[in-house]
Amino acid sequence: MPLRSLIKKKQDITMSIITNNHLRPGLQEQIAATKSGCTNCGECVRECAFLKKYGTPKSIADSFDAIDPKSLARSFECSLCGLCSVVCPEQLDLDGLFLEMRREAVDRGFGDYPEHSPLLTYERLGTSRRFSLYRLPQGCTTIFFPGCSLSGTRPDGVNRVFAELQKTDPTVGIVFDCCLKPSHSLGREQYTGAMFEEMNNWLVQQGVKEVLVACPNCQVMFTSLGQGLKVRTVWESLAESGLQPEGVSGTVTVHDPCVIRDAQPVHQAVRTLLNRQGLMVEEMPHSGRTTVCCGQGGAVNLLNPQLAASWGELRKREAAGRRIITYCAGCVQALGGHTPTNHLVDILFAPNQTLAGKKKGAGAPFTYLNRLRLKRAFKRKEGYAVTRERTFVPEQGQPKKRSWKPLIFLVLLVAAVAGVHLSGAAQYLQQEKLQALIASYGVLAPAIYILLYALAPVLFLPGLPITIVGGILFGPVWGVVYTITGATIGASLAFLVARYVARDWVAAKLTGPTWEKLDSEVAQHGWKVVAFTRLIPAFPFNLLNYAFGLTKVPFVHYMVATFVFMLPACIAFIVFSSSLLGLIKGKVSPTALLGIGLIVLVSLIPVVYRRFKGRQAAEAEAE
Ligand code: SF4
Ligand code: SF4
Repeated sequence: MPLRSLIKKKQDITMSIITNNHLRPGLQEQIAATKSGCTNCGECVRECAFLKKYGTPKSIADSFDAIDPKSLARSFECSLCGLCSVVCPEQLDLDGLFLEMRREAVDRGFGDYPEHSPLLTYERLGTSRRFSLYRLPQGCTTIFFPGCSLSGTRPDGVNRVFAELQKTDPTVGIVFDCCLKPSHSLGREQYTGAMFEEMNNWLVQQGVKEVLVACPNCQVMFTSLGQGLKVRTVWESLAESGLQPEGVSGTVTVHDPCVIRDAQPVHQAVRTLLNRQGLMVEEMPHSGRTTVCCGQGGAVNLLNPQLAASWGELRKREAAGRRIITYCAGCVQALGGHTPTNHLVDILFAPNQTLAGKKKGAGAPFTYLNRLRLKRAFKRKEGYAVTRERTFVPEQGQPKKRSWKPLIFLVLLVAAVAGVHLSGAAQYLQQEKLQALIASYGVLAPAIYILLYALAPVLFLPGLPITIVGGILFGPVWGVVYTITGATIGASLAFLVARYVARDWVAAKLTGPTWEKLDSEVAQHGWKVVAFTRLIPAFPFNLLNYAFGLTKVPFVHYMVATFVFMLPACIAFIVFSSSLLGLIKGKVSPTALLGIGLIVLVSLIPVVYRRFKGRQAAEAEAE
């Protein structure tokens, strides 16, 4: 984002804070209840890694400061799982407290984390015209709402469940849409309400009275926001209908999704189906009402993966080698990274394959393709009286106005190419001639290039296009010299701006656990963190330069580490770019091959690092 826009956004946020010192009524009530009700007994802290990090709910409520971005950011590390509320002797609504804190942050313009954007894109696609489909037969009063995750990971499971439902109710309809749980959990209350209401109203207008859900998140959303609709799970329906799945023997354990920890009839229906199949169910210490989060609750996995992983590791210990069966596709994905886990539809419809560890759900991007294929298959089916695809987008969630930048860029490009040809400058598009032309400007050309590169990080401009131009114009040797010089100066300028010129502004922008973690890591490991982040691109480069300015790392250490550890990527891209024009003409030179090889090597650094960390974690676990 250009600097001017960032400053404008910061000013807007600051103004909204200055003019709004009052908390949302819901948050005021929650904070008051927690302050007066919590006795600091520590029962909840013993169960929860988030509370172990931040203290008892009373201490969090006491220290809550709505104009401190760090305080606002804290609640986004809570999974909203509700275990604390269950174990609290005072029966406080603690997940409600943290959800209200998230909403407060969103109201104040602080809930916009880039880490959440993949999840929100996923949700937006789910509610889009391309992915949504409503098909209701004549006389339909009940619909099956499979949800995004099950449809994406297990489309065959959706088909099998729907076929079973049709046996007892031939007029059952189907709705592929998103329940809006991601926005709900991220505190986007208005958007969630508007989108959900539109879906709910449409269904009621069509005469729908009952929604059968397969996903616990959909169940929560329809139960808490639904109006005029009865909500049940397909598992209860299948258990009541007398479904007799293929028999199999063995022992499994069940992970009840935390969002429906109070839905005892659902817990029972799932166990009934498994027992009917011939399976023995052994319970884990945390099950039913005291179940734990899988790690994906509240989208914590996107902001603080380590905290999220601690829930998965707990489940792994509790499962003790037994296969986990759960009835949330998100939980399968989260727990499956720690211990063998399957969805209920896997074991119901492919029991032997599942117990042999051969039944797996699809992963992205195939989940999107599966949903589109599922939609297409249902759209082609005959016998439906009403069909719709969702086009509604509320005022607040309107897609940004169409940007004309790509078109302008294309027009400029075409004009430049035409200009080059008409002016006879095409002869200079020979790399040797281009380099000779640049050389004729003496020191001016490299000086301008270095200046441009130095300003790019400060102005949040992408460095890669400039690097490519540098490789073409200056060749593999001088290209590296000028590029690393410019990049180091640019990174240093941003660092100095953050440290001495605009500290408060940068601090307000870089809130959240990711940046807090960077700060604490630098306090412990100093320049090594700079070196690490230059080699492993875990953070956006331009923001990172500013972020280091807020830490305690000495400037000289920062500058030297930046210079040295940016060199590998710089060399790789410049060597490659220096042969780019030749490659475009179809000439594969040894330099081009070397450049490609170096880029592959540099790209492998994060992969090797993750493997190394994974092995370390596995060894620690084994010990
Ligand atoms: S809701 Fe879950 S993650 Fe949040 S504080 Fe309670 S137990 Fe911890
Ligand atoms: S269990 Fe309840 S009373 Fe005890 S520390 Fe937690 S919130 Fe406070």
